[in-house]
Amino acid sequence: MSDQPYSIDEVEAGGSSPIRPPAPRWADALRTAYRDPAELARALDLPERWAEQARVAASRFPLFAPRGFVRRMRRADPHDPLLRQVMPLEAETHTSAGFEADPVGDAPAMLSPGWLQKYAGRVLLVATGACAIHCRYCFRRHFPYPEVPRSVAQWELGLAQIAADPSVREVILSGGDPLTLVDRLLAELTARVASIGHVRRLRIHSRLPIVIPERIDDALLAWLTGTRLAPVMVVHVNHPQEIDATVEAALARLVEAGVPVLNQAVLLRGINDDVDVLAELCERLADLRVMSYYLHQLDRVAGAAHFEVPESEGLRLIEALRGRLPGYAVPRYVRETPGERSKLPLA
Ligand SMILES: *Cc1c(COP(=O)(O)O)cnc(C)c1O
Ligand code: SF4
Repeated sequence: MSDQPYSIDEVEAGGSSPIRPPAPRWADALRTAYRDPAELARALDLPERWAEQARVAASRFPLFAPRGFVRRMRRADPHDPLLRQVMPLEAETHTSAGFEADPVGDAPAMLSPGWLQKYAGRVLLVATGACAIHCRYCFRRHFPYPEVPRSVAQWELGLAQIAADPSVREVILSGGDPLTLVDRLLAELTARVASIGHVRRLRIHSRLPIVIPERIDDALLAWLTGTRLAPVMVVHVNHPQEIDATVEAALARLVEAGVPVLNQAVLLRGINDDVDVLAELCERLADLRVMSYYLHQLDRVAGAAHFEVPESEGLRLIEALRGRLPGYAVPRYVRETPGERSKLPLA
């Protein structure tokens, strides 16, 4: 994650016209997000000491939470499962053996600045360091984002590598969150990827459809469905309370535009390490025509040890889900291990 809070320059990075069109609604949602723990505490009727203890953790990785996401939280409840995903806690400043800056081995997988290849046939672009929310457990919270290029011209080196490697069938836009970039830039990038004949699929990994659902607007659907590449959208919901009517509408727009939507969740202590919560999440997603793809074992990133759920507990939860849900609604429980040829299935 970026050390810098989101800057509006990012939204306008693709704009070269001297007369800028009005910023889209989703850009306003980024601009007005909560960044100050004291302000967030006041908005949720939480005691001032909550904001006090957040200060040190927030100085390393700032608070960032859009208002629409905060509106889905319960007031005056420090254990709210959405609040716990974004609120900086004193516990983040503790060191824990085995929790490190780059737990997933991104650095050795770098093809060229911004482009990672770990698995056959798929190349992933860290398209930006900006996100629309700062998840406290993020495995890329220490990623060296200033090294990430952020213009199509700067991406050319990686595009040339993909063009030279006929085994690449899929390009994954990730981040940060790629959907914090403006549509003009994304459309240009998509067109460049589509010009490479052997690439067939474009996958987007984004939390925007959940945290700022108005991001799924006409302009986005135009480039996502206007390409010859088969699109896939992978969203990130951890708890059913994240899904309100605005999220339902955004997911429906994607599905109805013919874009397969998958979800990945992270197993998080005190948030979704409960069979009722996970079962409700998976069922809500199935009702919304979203496939539960992965349940990730927490990546052991420094500052996130307090979120870890033991694998034995994760296995028990998956077993319990199998007893309650249709097979297609049960996610694959996986762990990422540096140097492996795929995410490792645990169940
Ligand atoms: C997770 C990941 C992928 C995608 O893996 P799938 O199992 O296909 O979802 C691709 N590239 C990198 C670098 C990844 O970390
Ligand atoms: S949206 Fe994804 S990349 Fe961004 S902070 Fe959350 S987990 Fe990390």
